[in-house]
Amino acid sequence: MTQAYVFALDPTHSQVSLLRSHIGGTRFVYNALLGLVKTNWDENRAKVHAGEAVTREDYLGTRHLDLQKTWYANRDEVATWWSENGSSTYNYACLNLSKAFANHRAGRAKFPTFKKRGSSGSVSFLASAIKLSDSHHVRVSRVGENKTYESTRKLYRHLERGTGRIMAATVTERGGMYTISFTVAVTRVVPATRSPEKIIGIDVGLTTLYTGAGADGEQLLNVENPRHLITVQKELSHAQRVASRRNGPKPGVAPSNRWKKANSRVQKIHTSTANVRRNLIHETTSMLAKNYDVIVIEDLNVKGMVKNHSLAKHISDAAWGEFSRQLEYKTTWYGSTLVKADRFYPSSKTCAQCGAVKAKLSLTERTFACDSCGHQVDRDLNAAINLARLGLPGTSSGTGRGGEVRPQPQTLVATAHPGEASTETPRALGA
Ligand SMILES: [Zn+2]
Repeated sequence: MTQAYVFALDPTHSQVSLLRSHIGGTRFVYNALLGLVKTNWDENRAKVHAGEAVTREDYLGTRHLDLQKTWYANRDEVATWWSENGSSTYNYACLNLSKAFANHRAGRAKFPTFKKRGSSGSVSFLASAIKLSDSHHVRVSRVGENKTYESTRKLYRHLERGTGRIMAATVTERGGMYTISFTVAVTRVVPATRSPEKIIGIDVGLTTLYTGAGADGEQLLNVENPRHLITVQKELSHAQRVASRRNGPKPGVAPSNRWKKANSRVQKIHTSTANVRRNLIHETTSMLAKNYDVIVIEDLNVKGMVKNHSLAKHISDAAWGEFSRQLEYKTTWYGSTLVKADRFYPSSKTCAQCGAVKAKLSLTERTFACDSCGHQVDRDLNAAINLARLGLPGTSSGTGRGGEVRPQPQTLVATAHPGEASTETPRALGA
């Protein structure tokens, strides 16, 4: 399976200009090839219109190899400087453009458009052009030894042990910040089944992000919602207001330098919030998948919830969808089982003590108070206990909806995480 590893880079000034040259080069080649194909097709169309004979061979192809051929045939003319950058990077431009064409043919996307120059961009390298020198340095051919902010120890160990192999790497620039994302083929050892089964139910809430409990009522997990994400939200709206007062890009008009500066500030805040959130979700999901045999969560209708404006910000902060998605693939890595409770299962409204179901429970009620037995318990904890009980072996009538309670472990194909790897990261450079 492939897995993505992402690290923030700390390039020197000269490395920044080399990385920019590669990113710009990739974008240039992508645009140049798209231009050549478009012109060629327009010309052929005009010929057909004029009654001239046009054969299939007259049309430039859009498959990876076709585009590579067009690139080799035209590079000395359209990009005299091409030899300044690592040549595998152009190959990825061909690959990415061929994918864009394929997506259009399949009806998944609009016709490819030219990539705009801006404060973001990316460039991919073949595995042979990248080397992890130690746990804090990545050697990129033509760019040199780049320092990483964080330790690359996890990936470095995989490579040393021979349980991981780098397939490709993508350097992405966003608002002046650089990250490198490795696509790595990883071999994993699935641990033998543990016994007795450890079960945890997780309630995803607003004040406490994740509350976990066992079927016996013991609280097992408490992850607070990082409030600073909300503080940062204020900083972000301020930065966005500043940017909106300046002269941004309009058709035919270049954005002002003051706008670029303000926009880069906005991008930086976005990137750092995304990092904080991603790390928190990763830590929590890894811990759960490694330590529990059965993890029960709600199958929330995230789209439906985001429509509720007062909740929207919190819900997206809580990133429930990402949490669930990560649990899906991590449970397959570690041999644990993810159970999703039926969306209508009243985990919040059911009393964990006596089983009575409340007719109504408003979001502002933080404590669950049972009308039947008088039991009082934290709302999220009550829900988590009820969820955990759905994971008990033999539980099938718990939902009252006849939903599939304990599905077989899903066979999911683990892919690189889209949130981490650039969407342009090719899996492998297929011929
Ligand atoms: Zn009760």
